[in-house]
Amino acid sequence: MDMLLPLKFTESLPVQDGFQRSLRELRLSVIDRCNFRCTYCMPADSLQGRGVFLPLEKLLTDHEMEDLVRAFVDLGVRKLRITGGEPLVRPGLPALIEQLAAIPGLDDIALTTNGVMLTRLAGDLAEAGLSRLTVSLDTLNQEILHHMSGGKARLGHILEGISAAEAAGFRRIKINTVVQRGVNDHTIMDLLAHFRGSGHPVRLIEFMDVGNSNHWNKSDVVPNAEWIETIRQKWPIRPLEPSSAAETAQRFEYVDGQGEIGFISSITQPFCGGCTRARVTADGIFYTCLFSNSGTNLMPLIRHGEDPDELRNRIHSVWSARNDRYSEERGLPGHDQKKVEMYRLGG
Ligand code: SAM
Ligand code: SF4
Ligand code: SF4
Repeated sequence: MDMLLPLKFTESLPVQDGFQRSLRELRLSVIDRCNFRCTYCMPADSLQGRGVFLPLEKLLTDHEMEDLVRAFVDLGVRKLRITGGEPLVRPGLPALIEQLAAIPGLDDIALTTNGVMLTRLAGDLAEAGLSRLTVSLDTLNQEILHHMSGGKARLGHILEGISAAEAAGFRRIKINTVVQRGVNDHTIMDLLAHFRGSGHPVRLIEFMDVGNSNHWNKSDVVPNAEWIETIRQKWPIRPLEPSSAAETAQRFEYVDGQGEIGFISSITQPFCGGCTRARVTADGIFYTCLFSNSGTNLMPLIRHGEDPDELRNRIHSVWSARNDRYSEERGLPGHDQKKVEMYRLGG
C-alpha cells in the first residue's frame, strides 16, 4: 500500500529513469519566438502563418519558471541551460536569470543564443549571474550565413555580440556550428582558423533530424569523424578526457596550444546512454527527449497547483518511466514519428 502514497519531498531526492540515467540537467526554453529563420530549425516556408507562436500570456511567468526550476533542482538537477527560440527576445531576461541564479543547489546556468542581441544584453546577463554562454554561428561567409538564417543574420552583428560578451567578462564562449554538406562545409576550416587561439571552443554539430520541417536527409550530414581527419592534417589535435559521462561533445585540443574543439555527433555516434537532460518548453510542457512526439503539461501544476510536492511527484514519475534513446534507434522500422519542433524545445 505504501507504494501508492505520494512521495513527500523533504530534501533533495535524485531520480533515475528506466536505464539508470539520473536527472541532472534541465534545458528550459523561455520563448519560442526567434529573430532568425534558420533553414535547419525554423524554415520560413514551413511556418503556418499567424498564430504559430505561443501568445505571450501562455508563457510561464518569471515566478513560475523559478518554481519549476526549484522542483527540478529538488530532484537532482544541477545544471540549467536557457534556450528557445531565441532566449534574448524574452522581455526582461536578465531579471529572470537573476532569480534563477539565486536558487540554492543550482551550480551552473548557461545560455544558448544566436548572439545578435548580446551587444545590448551581455553586461546585464553577466551581472545577473549567468555562468556560461554559447553563441551559434555556422559560417563566416556572409552570403551563406544569410541563407542559413533565412535571410536574417548579419555576420558583423554576431561578431559584435561575441565581442560584447567578452567585454562583459565571458572568457570561454562556446561557438555552436551546425554543418550541412554542400551548404557551409567548405567554410568550416576558415571558421576554425578564426577562433583558434581566441579561448572560445568551436563545436561542430552534425545536422540533426529535429522537428518535422527541416527537410533533413542523411546525405546532408558530414560525419564528424571526417572532420577529425581533415583538421588533423592541418592542425594536429588530440582527444581530451570527458569531463563527465553526460558530456554531449567529444573534446579535442590543438597540440600547438591554440585551444579546444568539440564534436557533437548525435547522428553517427549517438550518446543516449549518458543523456541526463530534461527539457521544458516556455509554456511548461516537459519532454524527456529532443525527438519526443509528446510531452507532459506541467503548467496546471505550476500555475494552479497548491502543493509543490504534486509538481515534483509528476516530474519524478515521468522521469522514472523514461526509456528514450531516439538517436540510437534512428532509422529502425516504425521509428518515423512526428516530433516536437526544435524552436519550441530549444537545443
Ligand atoms: N536561438 C538560439 C540559438 O540558435 O543559439 C537557441 C535555440 S537553438 C534551437 C539551439 C541550438 O540548436 C543552436 O546552436 C542551433 O544551431 C541548434 N540547432 C537547431 N537546429 C538544429 C539541427 N537541425 N541540427 C543540429 N543543431 C540544430
Ligand atoms: Fe532561431 Fe536558434 Fe532556431 Fe536559428 S537555431 S531559428 S536562431 S531558434
Ligand atoms: Fe537524449 Fe533523446 Fe538525444 Fe538520446 S536522442 S541523447 S535520449 S535527447
